[in-house]
Amino acid sequence: MKKVISIKNINKNYGEGDALVKALKDISLDIYEGDFVAIMGPSGSGKSTLMNILGILDKPTDGVYMLEDLDVANFDDRSQAKARNQKIGFVFQAFNLLPKMTAQKNVELPMIYNDVSAKEREEAAKEALGKVGLAERAHHIPSKMSGGQKQRVAIARALVNKPQILLADEPTGNLDSISSEEIMEIFQKLNDEGVTVILVTHEVDIAEHTKRILTFKDGRLTSDKKVEKPLRASEILAENNRRLEAQFSDDNMEA
Ligand code: ADP
Ligand code: MG
Repeated sequence: MKKVISIKNINKNYGEGDALVKALKDISLDIYEGDFVAIMGPSGSGKSTLMNILGILDKPTDGVYMLEDLDVANFDDRSQAKARNQKIGFVFQAFNLLPKMTAQKNVELPMIYNDVSAKEREEAAKEALGKVGLAERAHHIPSKMSGGQKQRVAIARALVNKPQILLADEPTGNLDSISSEEIMEIFQKLNDEGVTVILVTHEVDIAEHTKRILTFKDGRLTSDKKVEKPLRASEILAENNRRLEAQFSDDNMEA
């Protein structure tokens, strides 16, 4: 299998002297094409620090980060921005959308630096919104959307440049369980299509939708386990719909 990410002996320190925090300690890890990885661990264990390094939003203090054959930790800022823009999509817990711009415009944003016409941008954004089931809501503004819809817009924005890797830091952290399941359904579909997905979660039942669970503690990687039989979000949602329909028809019978 092809390695898409390979990190070796990564350390990340914040601050210095008495304020020194060793957020990541000697992390080595390989992630393969088509992997679907959950990162778990208590608050402060280094999960977001790792995601920010993998997403090239931050640099390790030392260690090697190979993104395919690119030695990204040693790139200059411009090359890092280019690698990030072309290869990686990032989804955050807090959505980070521009609230007054339409879904369509939000999704177009990462393409502004691409050398493409307005028409191509619009079409790519429409396609990405279609992938998350929001084709009909392209002209709605996020401030009028539910949390689940906002996160789907954010996923569409992460997908618009067709990245090979999707990183999501607690993407369901602000969502109810049905909306969370819908987000996991989208990630599973993307992963089935070949996108490598890495997500941070606190919830075991979210993690069990992935193929592999990494656990962090105090900045160290303490376990790396294969998920034998990942939960399928589409099945859970279908089962939930059946239950609701059955309940609805029972209620109507009684009335
Ligand atoms: P997690 O996402 O698992 O909750 P983080 O990666 O955010 O953990 O944080 C790991 C450790 O690094 C924590 O002790 C946190 O306080 C510290 N930390 C994170 N970001 C910074 C920063 N920008 N400056 C100083 N310390 C930080
Ligand atoms: Mg975090």
